[in-house]
Amino acid sequence: MSVLFQHVTALTMDPAQPLLKDAYVAVEGTAIASVGTTRPQGEFDRVVDGKGQVLMPGLINCHTHVPMTLMRGYGGGHDLQHWLSDYIFPAEAKLDQRAVAAGAALGLAEMIATGTTCIVDMYMKTGTIAQQVMDAGISANLSCGGLYFGDPKDFSPDQCTDCRNQEELMQQWHGAGEGQILVDASIHGEYTSSAPLWQWTADFAQKNKLGMHVHISETKLEHEQSLQRHGKTPLAILDQYGVWERGGTAAHCVWVSDEDMDLMARKHVTAVHNPVSNLKLGSGVARVPKMLQAGVNVALGTDGVSSNNSADLFEEIKLAAMLHKGVSRDPMAVTAHQALEMATVNAARALGRNTGVVAPGKVADLILVDFNRPNLIPCHDVEENLVFAARGGDVSMNMARGKIIYEKGEFFTLDVEKIRSEVEDYALPLIFG
Ligand SMILES: [Zn+2]
Repeated sequence: MSVLFQHVTALTMDPAQPLLKDAYVAVEGTAIASVGTTRPQGEFDRVVDGKGQVLMPGLINCHTHVPMTLMRGYGGGHDLQHWLSDYIFPAEAKLDQRAVAAGAALGLAEMIATGTTCIVDMYMKTGTIAQQVMDAGISANLSCGGLYFGDPKDFSPDQCTDCRNQEELMQQWHGAGEGQILVDASIHGEYTSSAPLWQWTADFAQKNKLGMHVHISETKLEHEQSLQRHGKTPLAILDQYGVWERGGTAAHCVWVSDEDMDLMARKHVTAVHNPVSNLKLGSGVARVPKMLQAGVNVALGTDGVSSNNSADLFEEIKLAAMLHKGVSRDPMAVTAHQALEMATVNAARALGRNTGVVAPGKVADLILVDFNRPNLIPCHDVEENLVFAARGGDVSMNMARGKIIYEKGEFFTLDVEKIRSEVEDYALPLIFG
């Protein structure tokens, strides 16, 4: 299948030609074939007229728990510890495969309609999520965050269900769909496991050349208890066991120290900034400008919808660009361009994926944003409008891996009516009675 976008304004995120007006972007199969201001030769299966539309890289959500969409708005008004132990864990204990599939599909529908083409997801029953992602058509790095609450001296990989789950997930799904699905090694967090699991996970990642995804220093309590337990921050104690030898994505990083930032820059650990979730749970504000200064790669995540309560990454982009201006009283603390980089190029770099930029040879993960909408008129500056005025609902088309999966409210890979009935008639009664 070949598609030509014509007469679009292309925000490429490619420093060689950042913004092209009245541009042509050609897609062949799963890749971008050409980007320029003259019409490429040849016939195309479909020509999309993009007048008044901005074409940009699809957004990459680097920290999600997609089935938690089922718990949208449940247990609000609590800090992380109480919210997890009194609301989320009891609800999650009732989940089965079918409910996870329903919640994942619902979350994916919301993400696709708001411009996301790739996610980094950590959850249980991960094979079920992988199938939903595969069918939906976007890309994903998936993991089942390892937990170990037992006595460290009793740890045995053969007896550890989470170790077996990670191995099984890797065997079944790593590289599926020509790299559409990648499996990351994962530790849920320092506070929900101990040294033998960290060592096993580090070895597992190195042996199988996998990425690494971990919750890091989300709350002050988590950070300080690690210092008490180990004399080291969560990031540093995991480093001692080789967890970051292949880099990784560290979700939250609200309380990381200056030394942690240097370690992240050195070891190519990406900080995944989740500003909405961190504010909603009262966890704090990550020191993003400081991390950028320290040379840390920063990406964005929504976290689970249960602590957000939306999967619209445009909200994170706006808040990432806005929040740090207010905190530091500096209107340039995080620029609009930097916030867009976090949701595109920085995220692609974090995952080692050939996407996040509109350039020839890149995977065709592209979205159109409708700049004819009243909230996007006038347009003095495309990036200003995208970051501060656009909403996920302004996305008019989502192309993932060269395939148009969503256009003007219509989903081509998901049956939203069926998803709604699975959620309302099956999953919600199962969890909430
Ligand atoms: Zn999380």
